[in-house]
Amino acid sequence: MPADVCPSCGKPMTKGFLVAESFVEGAKWMTEKTRLARGGEVLFKPDGWGNVYMDAYRCNGCRRVFLQY
Ligand SMILES: [Zn+2]
Repeated sequence: MPADVCPSCGKPMTKGFLVAESFVEGAKWMTEKTRLARGGEVLFKPDGWGNVYMDAYRCNGCRRVFLQY
């Protein structure tokens, strides 16, 4: 299946970025919440301005975002 087709509904998705702001570690993966969000595996590091740009595909119909790291 091409990466730009929604695996749920099969319609084309829009390529873009999910953007977050972080001046410390960036965006991390965790299987459960921790105090002060310590720990986890950094998947996306912030740029010099503290912005985290995550490569993603978005399906408007399903309201889902699929991330690539
Ligand atoms: Zn969809």
